[in-house]
Amino acid sequence: MLAVPIRQMGYGVAVLAPLGDAPALGLADHAIRASFDDLDAARRLAELSDVVTYEFENVPAATARAVAERRPLHPSARLLELTQDRNREHDFLASLGVATAPGREVHTVAEFNAALVALGMPARLKSARGGYDGGGQLRVHDAASVAAARERIPTIEGGWRLEAEVPFERELSVIVARSAGEIRVYAPFENQHRDGILHLTRWPARGSPRAHARAVDIAEAVAVAGELCGVMCVELFVRGDEVSVNELAPRVHNSGHLTIEGAAVSQFEQHVRAICGLPLGSPERGAGGVAMVNLLGLADRRHVRVAGAPAALAEPGVHLHLYGKDRERPRRKMGHVTALGNDADDAAERALRAAANLNFVGADRAE
Ligand code: AMP
Repeated sequence: MLAVPIRQMGYGVAVLAPLGDAPALGLADHAIRASFDDLDAARRLAELSDVVTYEFENVPAATARAVAERRPLHPSARLLELTQDRNREHDFLASLGVATAPGREVHTVAEFNAALVALGMPARLKSARGGYDGGGQLRVHDAASVAAARERIPTIEGGWRLEAEVPFERELSVIVARSAGEIRVYAPFENQHRDGILHLTRWPARGSPRAHARAVDIAEAVAVAGELCGVMCVELFVRGDEVSVNELAPRVHNSGHLTIEGAAVSQFEQHVRAICGLPLGSPERGAGGVAMVNLLGLADRRHVRVAGAPAALAEPGVHLHLYGKDRERPRRKMGHVTALGNDADDAAERALRAAANLNFVGADRAE
C-alpha cells in the first residue's frame, strides 16, 4: 500500500522483506529477501535508496541504525526505539503529561506480585518489547492466569509491563503526519478489536467532541516531541471525556487503511510526501462515512485465493484489497474491505456484509 503511491509519484522502490510472499515485493524494482536483523542486507537497501522507511515497528534498533548511518531514515531510529519498549514509551508519554493505563515495569516475579497488589485485577501482562496484534499479552484475572503469568515472567528478555485494564467505552486511533514545518492530523478513527486484532474501523468516530479534540492534541504533541518525519499512529482508550494512550506506532497503521478511499490524501501518500520532503496533503474525509473490515486468515495452508469477491463487490460503495499473500495462517492479515456509505453506520454495515461473503480457499495450484 506504501509502494503504490511511491510508484505513482515516479519514484523507484527497493524492498527488504523476510517473507517470500511479502506483498511489496511484487511492486519492487529491487527486492532483498533477508531477515530484519541482517545488517548487510540493511546496508545494501540503504545504498540502493535516497530515503528509507519501514512499515513494521519491530525492525531491530541495530538495523535501523545501520540504515541511518548511510541514508536518511524516517521516522528516526530514535523514535522507533522509543516506541519499541512499552516502558520507555510510557515514560515518554508521561513526560508530555499524557495519561496511559496505570501500570508498572516488571522484570521479576517479586516485582510482578507487588505490581499486581498495587494495580489489582483484571490486569494485562504485556511483553515490553516485540508485541504486535495482541501477541505477547496475557489477561490476568484469576488464580490460574496469575500462575501462568508468574511462569512467563523469566522467559523473556526486555521485561514486561503490567497494566490495569482500562474500562473504556471506545478505542480511537489518530494518525498524524509531520514533515519539516508542517503537521496534518486525520480526525479520529473508531476501532473494534477481536482477540487483540483490529476487526472494524469506522470514520468518523462516535463519542465526545472534547475527547476527540484531546486525542488530536495528544497526537500533535507526540509528533512534535518525537520530531516525527512521516506518519504515526496514536492508539487511545476513551471513556466520556477521558482519554488515555494505549500505544504508539511510528508508521502507517491498519486503522488508516480506509483513508485510501475515504480521505483526500491517504495515509500512505501522506507518508511518502513527508519522507520525500514534499508538501503534505489534505487529511479531510469525503462526504458521508467510511468503514474498514480486516480479512484474517483462519487455517494454516499455502496457495490460497479468495472466494466470494463477486458477491462482496455487488454491495454498493465496497472496495476490496487483497494483499496477495500466498500463505494463509490463523490471524494473518490477508486483505481488507473498505466501504463508503451515507454515514459510518451505513458504511460499517456494508463493509461487514461484504466481508461476510469472502473467505480464503485452497487455490489447487501444483507445488
Ligand atoms: P495492544 O497490543 O496493546 O494494542 O492491545 C490490543 C488490544 O487489547 C487493545 O486494542 C485493547 O482492545 C486491548 N487492551 C490492551 N491493553 C488494554 C488495557 N490496559 N485495558 C483494556 N484493554 C486493553
